[in-house]
Amino acid sequence: MVRSLLVANWKMYKTVAESQAFVQEWLERRAKTDRAAEQVICPTLPALYVLAQALRGRDIRVGAQTLDLGREGANTGAVSGYLLREAGASYVIVGHSERRRLYGEDDAVVRDQAVAALECGLKPIICVGESRAERELGRTDAVILHQVQSVIQALNDLADTVFAYEPVWAIGTGLVPTAEEADRVAGVIQDALVRAYPNSGGTVRILYGGSVNRQTVREFAAAPRLDGALVGGASLDVEHWIALNQGWMEVRG
Ligand code: PEP
Repeated sequence: MVRSLLVANWKMYKTVAESQAFVQEWLERRAKTDRAAEQVICPTLPALYVLAQALRGRDIRVGAQTLDLGREGANTGAVSGYLLREAGASYVIVGHSERRRLYGEDDAVVRDQAVAALECGLKPIICVGESRAERELGRTDAVILHQVQSVIQALNDLADTVFAYEPVWAIGTGLVPTAEEADRVAGVIQDALVRAYPNSGGTVRILYGGSVNRQTVREFAAAPRLDGALVGGASLDVEHWIALNQGWMEVRG
């Protein structure tokens, strides 16, 4: 059975000290309660190394929120996957809609980032999702397929990849699709993966992301084609994050 995966995306929130305090409190409290899914914390870049050290030897991974291409070079401000890996990251989010919108990371960049991540031993969490306008025009499946295919065409296989269905209109808005709809779109993604890679496509984990919280998590956990969640706002509070994990595991554990 595929192990569930819950990913916390802290975006540009939490100082290094706040990140450390979260992890310390989490480790103290979760020990008593947790039947955990695989969990990944994606903190701000300055906190990544510190958290990776704090979580060494634990069943919790640290991820980055994006990566720059290449290994090293005269690229002011850039952080390559190699540097992230060396700092302790195991995963990296690519194609998040905020990166697509705010930093112009289009499908071609996302594709190259996924390839670069795998080359240096990072597992890419590849985000795809339609905008509200695209949804209203009935273009959800076409948009998702285009985004998925643009990445998988460039890969040799799908081992170590994760996909996240993140409808843009649901991120940070409190709006969510029904679990049935999220499951249906996960099926669209899965079918595309299986068509391209008949042997491994069916084993790739597909997450849902967009306003998941401790109230809604059980509904998404009941969706058979979803293997986990990518969580922004609701991952910032320890109690909420623990409750979210418990809610998921009560349904799927
Ligand atoms: C995200 O950042 O990927 C996300 C899903 O955010 P939120 O949970 O806040 O909607």
